[in-house]
Parts: sequence; structure tokens; C-alpha cells
Amino acid sequence: MERLNQINEIDIAQYFKLSEFACPCCKRVMLHPLLLKKLVEFRAIIKKPIYITSGYRCSEYNQKVGGIKSSYHMLGLAADIQVEGVSALDLLEYAEMINFAGIGFYEKKNFLHLDVRPTKLARWRG
Ligand SMILES: [Zn+2]
Ligand SMILES: [Zn+2]
Repeated sequence: MERLNQINEIDIAQYFKLSEFACPCCKRVMLHPLLLKKLVEFRAIIKKPIYITSGYRCSEYNQKVGGIKSSYHMLGLAADIQVEGVSALDLLEYAEMINFAGIGFYEKKNFLHLDVRPTKLARWRG
């Protein structure tokens, strides 16, 4: 079992492991290099650990958490993030500097949805 616990425990960038992006239910993972690149930029300017609260989602898990049918989480193009001690409003300013294509601002739950969708920019409040 120890071997299985090591699944996706691979450093893919200075501050991120592949396992942080894996689906919690099945450990499967898809991750677009541009999403990782932008999160690394984000990490560099914010100088604090970024907690990925949701990365890749398989369709079952996406349904379970009430994600929309065409969620970019299911394509490896999206991540939800939190940073301890930093408000979602402050995170939003950084996210705009880094030009994520999709940014969802969830003030009450204090997290941001970030994605690198290939279509036009999207901004919303949750
Ligand atoms: Zn899953
Ligand atoms: Zn999201």
C-alpha cells in the first residue's frame, strides 16, 4: 500500500506536486502546462503557499461536487485556490496580473477559480 500512497507524488514545478492536482476520488489527473506555468508565476509573486482545493475532476467527482457539465476542471484547465491569510479579493488582484483566461471570485467561501480556457475571457462571482 505504501507504493500506492506515492502515486502522483512527483515534483512538477518548484512549488507543486502532481498529486495536488489529482482528482480526490480516483487519483486520476490531467494538467495543462499553461495552467501550471501561471500558478508558478502566481506563487512567485504572492510568496506564500498556494493550496489547490480542486484541480482535475473526473466526471463522477465533478457531478458530486455540483460542478457544471462542461467544467474546465474535467479537462485539466482549471484549479480552485486558497492562500492562508489572504482574502479572495486580494488574490483576485494577483490573478488579474497573471491574466488567467477564466477567473471566478468566491468571496464567501474565500477562494478563486482560475482557468486557462481557450475561448474568450470570463469573469464571474460565485
Ligand atoms: Zn475521480
Ligand atoms: Zn473551479
